[in-house]
Amino acid sequence: MGFVSLGCPKALVDSESILTQLRAEGYDIAPSYEGSDLVVVNTCGFIDAAVEESLEAIGEALAANGKVIVTGCLGAKGDVVRQAHPKVLAVTGPHATPEVMAAVHAHLPRPHDPFTDLVPPQGIRLTPRHYAYLKISEGCNHRCTFCIIPSMRGDLVSRPVGDVMKEAESLVAAGVKELLVISQDTSAYGVDVKYRTGFWGGKPLRTRMTELCAALGELGAWVRLHYVYPYPHVDEVIPLMAEGKILPYLDVPFQHASPRILKLMKRPAASERNLERIRAWRAACPDLAIRSTFIVGFPGETEAEFGELLEFLREAKLDRVGCFAYSPVEGAKANELPGAVAEAVKQERLARFMAAQAVVSRERLAAKVGRVIDVLVDDVDDGVAIARSSADAPEIDGVVRVTGAKRAGPGDFLRVRVRGATEHDLEAVPA
Ligand code: SF4
Repeated sequence: MGFVSLGCPKALVDSESILTQLRAEGYDIAPSYEGSDLVVVNTCGFIDAAVEESLEAIGEALAANGKVIVTGCLGAKGDVVRQAHPKVLAVTGPHATPEVMAAVHAHLPRPHDPFTDLVPPQGIRLTPRHYAYLKISEGCNHRCTFCIIPSMRGDLVSRPVGDVMKEAESLVAAGVKELLVISQDTSAYGVDVKYRTGFWGGKPLRTRMTELCAALGELGAWVRLHYVYPYPHVDEVIPLMAEGKILPYLDVPFQHASPRILKLMKRPAASERNLERIRAWRAACPDLAIRSTFIVGFPGETEAEFGELLEFLREAKLDRVGCFAYSPVEGAKANELPGAVAEAVKQERLARFMAAQAVVSRERLAAKVGRVIDVLVDDVDDGVAIARSSADAPEIDGVVRVTGAKRAGPGDFLRVRVRGATEHDLEAVPA
């Protein structure tokens, strides 16, 4: 592999990133065009002289080798490169290691390496190839009384933002189309390191949810947020959703609506006015889908408090909801609370809760009939593509069944028109 690196230190860092990836995948870097199977030229487009120099370098590489991939700032300047050199194999902008690697893979298959070839490029993943979970932190600073996670995993430890971004980038380069951001408390990302400024691609980036989401939104994959608590700064990510940078989807585990029960649960952000927040989020991003989970029959929950929860459910009109009857986990503080709710009452409340939500869910989905939406195909079953929209996380939410998408396969995006809705799923045809 030949490599020409032009331009400023930022371009140099891009070159380093591409070279690192090339070497990690077993490509050798050759000192001459003639001794290479392919040449990557990292260009500069800052001033005319730099444009000239870059175009000359591309011309030289084409003449001596013939197979040339262009990256860097000049690549971002419209059609300049293709007009001067129509024979180049691919053109990308700056800071585009995944795209450059994709072009390299397309024109020069990765060399065989007996040590690493059994390991897929995205590492060992238990998810299908086209989506992956991206864990941004471990542990939790809260002490919800029904939960023993902090005693098992300890306090919050956020992963360095540069590491998270690097992993996300290589997942996307390996064909992942959807990144599912997970943690115990995504909104707390970076609290433990005082939102320290890290680096990604040579640029400073704060260890903070909003900044991370904005950066992830640049990778060209779907980005879905899980386990977000309704802290005030969550409002900052809603514009990113409205702009289409990340999916308009929030998984907010509310757990209850009664202030007294939330206090007994010691839930984070328990005092937030959640209904008002939800209304404001939806006003800013009308397509926002909200998923949540709840617990009914928590120790001491009265019929009136359960009623508050049902009322919240009817008002909030959440898109996706999971609910559990409280069950004492060994070692959880909540077990010591007085007023354990009888099992039969718990089950009865669970059934009433689910019935109330079924009405909401059916309404929310019926409102989508007639709309054109984008979906990602997970599977094809008997000619029907089983896909998901921005409102559906894998495994836990519903699906969109698309008939008539003949050539669709797992990992494909489709634009579809919604034709029908059931309580949980949508039916659609290609738009
Ligand atoms: S339930 Fe509470 S304590 Fe447990 S992981 Fe979630 S936020 Fe932390």
